[in-house]
Amino acid sequence: MSTTASAAHVVVVGGGVIGLSCAFSLRQAGAEVTVLDRGVCGQATSLGNGGWITPSLSAPLAAPGVIRQALRWMLDPKSPLLVRPRLDRAFLAWLLRFARNTTPARYEAGARAVLALNEPTLRLFDAFRDAGVDFEMHESGLVFVALDDAHVAEEWELLSQLATLGYPGRLELLDSRAARVLEPALSGAVAGGVYAGEERHVQPQTLTAGLLRWLGEAGVEIRDGVSVEGMSATGGGWRLRTSTGPVDADRVVVAAGIWSRGLLEGLGARVPLEAAKGYSVTVPMRGGGPRHALMLQEAKVGVSPFHGSLRLSGTLEFAGEDLRLDPRRIAAIVEAAGRYLEGFSGNEGTPWAGLRQLLPDALPIIGRVPGAPGVFVATGHGMLGITLAPATADALTPLVLEDRMVAALEPLAVDRRYA
Ligand SMILES: Cc1cc2nc3c(=O)[nH]c(=O)nc-3n(C[C@H](O)[C@H](O)[C@H](O)COP(=O)(O)OP(=O)(O)OC[C@H]3O[C@@H](n4cnc5c(N)ncnc54)[C@H](O)[C@@H]3O)c2cc1C
Repeated sequence: MSTTASAAHVVVVGGGVIGLSCAFSLRQAGAEVTVLDRGVCGQATSLGNGGWITPSLSAPLAAPGVIRQALRWMLDPKSPLLVRPRLDRAFLAWLLRFARNTTPARYEAGARAVLALNEPTLRLFDAFRDAGVDFEMHESGLVFVALDDAHVAEEWELLSQLATLGYPGRLELLDSRAARVLEPALSGAVAGGVYAGEERHVQPQTLTAGLLRWLGEAGVEIRDGVSVEGMSATGGGWRLRTSTGPVDADRVVVAAGIWSRGLLEGLGARVPLEAAKGYSVTVPMRGGGPRHALMLQEAKVGVSPFHGSLRLSGTLEFAGEDLRLDPRRIAAIVEAAGRYLEGFSGNEGTPWAGLRQLLPDALPIIGRVPGAPGVFVATGHGMLGITLAPATADALTPLVLEDRMVAALEPLAVDRRYA
């Protein structure tokens, strides 16, 4: 590298929660930072999601038994999973690889990798706040609730197993009475649940807005409306081709969400990144409503209470990069919430859809881009991009600025075996 760490100019491509968190960490470490976003920072997948900070969800989606469950769901048009049939060889290969990751050994290794990355997560959210990033964060925990005893027992077993793999949080098994004492908004249909008391959630839009404000005040250059179309090495650095002219950098971090795939391909790195659409509905609330984040187990719907609104989120839809809103999916989410929440009707809700990014082993890719020294990537966070954003940035910064690899990044390398 031709420059010292503190003087390095790092260009971050993509101003979602991952790119903005990387910019925060890099700036704190003394780098000169520019963030380029082809749209408006914070307005893509990082906008309408559930905002959960949940290390208790570190178990990868590619879990033993998930294929059997998925096949059952595919027969139900209201289910939380949809796979649109596509004659796309890359997608079929992705599905096959995903299936190969559902062995107990790969699942456990994946859970350990995400737990290790998540280890500093809560401290790093505190550090955002301590540094002066202003955002809405709730520390009331997450309650997994179910309508039948079998689902309560299944979740308790899964979380207890995660605890044996290293999940450090406090867990409490709740019968139906205890669940309703803890969360009076639950309906009488709820059979019980599990309380993960240390989990948190944020209003995600306030987090990206808070980071943007902090970055602006810290001298980071933020440029909306600049699309990066490719990049080439210049001998010691990189020249980015953008829609508004070339931009030079000592180092580059690609944090462009699902769209990172094309940028990586341009550098000769083919990664099996697949888009998984999810929906949310945000309902205005004038008092009342749940106080805790809730996972509605059978429906796989997340509930996030914010100041003045309630957000329901869910669905995993494999339909390419299609962001259209499917009214049946949205209705299914709202209907499901009505079964678990007393007197709930989400009729006035605002729907939204976003694209999660998923690798076949359901682990993120964070690290060097092979064959492109000085270019790094951080994407593939699936359901956990908000949770893992500060930990991703914290682990990646020493690699970008000092060429120092932290252990948590080893299983997340771009050139790992995806199975
Ligand atoms: C319904 C739903 C609910 C979710 N709930 C949660 C949750 O509760 N907790 C959690 O942890 N995670 C959750 N997630 C996942 C989380 O939202 C994502 O993992 C996270 O937002 C991804 O952030 P990102 O910065 O990688 O991508 P994005 O937010 O998509 O940002 C990528 C940015 O890159 C820019 N870009 C793309 N291409 C280029 C280019 N060529 N040049 C310049 N800029 C470019 C885009 O404009 C965009 O702003 C949820 C996701 C969905 C869909």
